[in-house]
Amino acid sequence: MYGTGLLKGMAITLKYFLSRKITVQYPEQMPELQERFRGRLYLEFEKCIVCGMCTKACPNGVLSLEDARDENTKKKKLISYTIDHQYCMFCNLCVENCPGNCLHFNHDFELTQFNRPDIKDVYHRPPEMDQVSPQASTPGSGDANEPEPGITEAALKKQKKMDALMTALDKNPVKVLSRYVDGEEDAQILADIVQADRGKAEKLVELMADDQDKARKVAVAFVNKEKKQRQSQTEGGEKREHE
Ligand code: SF4
Ligand code: SF4
Repeated sequence: MYGTGLLKGMAITLKYFLSRKITVQYPEQMPELQERFRGRLYLEFEKCIVCGMCTKACPNGVLSLEDARDENTKKKKLISYTIDHQYCMFCNLCVENCPGNCLHFNHDFELTQFNRPDIKDVYHRPPEMDQVSPQASTPGSGDANEPEPGITEAALKKQKKMDALMTALDKNPVKVLSRYVDGEEDAQILADIVQADRGKAEKLVELMADDQDKARKVAVAFVNKEKKQRQSQTEGGEKREHE
């Protein structure tokens, strides 16, 4: 029959017109990411055993490392590690092949940079990893000293991001926080919370710099808890008035 296709098409259009909108107003609103989402690849420097499996596994030559021989232990040590994100296709082969479990993906998908060299993450060996205790530096003395966590460029970047976020939060909390909760009223409640509690502000800022998804969940949890408290306070007041 003529017109059936047209009617079917109109029915589909109407169905989607009336269904819940799933478009996210990025960047004001951050998308909900799945747990296994692959964003920025990062390295736990201090765990790397310099086996080179990751560089061999990567089909795109994203990863490169520089190593040297430790004069005391005669073992290889990592000097620097480079991740050139622009060529990464998120295949996960490096992560799967790393025996030290030191490569991971986080949820940071905002990898765009103005300058091409800035896309690279270069990790340098922190000097703390070469500071050995007198006992450990004696050849054959047993356990080597425990390396301290690496100071990476990524960590420095994160710190800078956190400082910038904290400044923005101090200047205009409602505007910054409206990205993490729904509506201005919730943003105002959250602003009151973080202004009253510096610890919560710092926790939230760290999550904002690290994991947007978690930051949103924590922000919503803070607001819901505060709302409940306010509601119970109101109900308590009303009860007392009636008594
Ligand atoms: S995810 Fe794939 S392309 Fe990206 S660095 Fe790892 S092995 Fe290379
Ligand atoms: S595979 Fe893992 S342990 Fe081996 S060099 Fe790469 S990151 Fe280091």
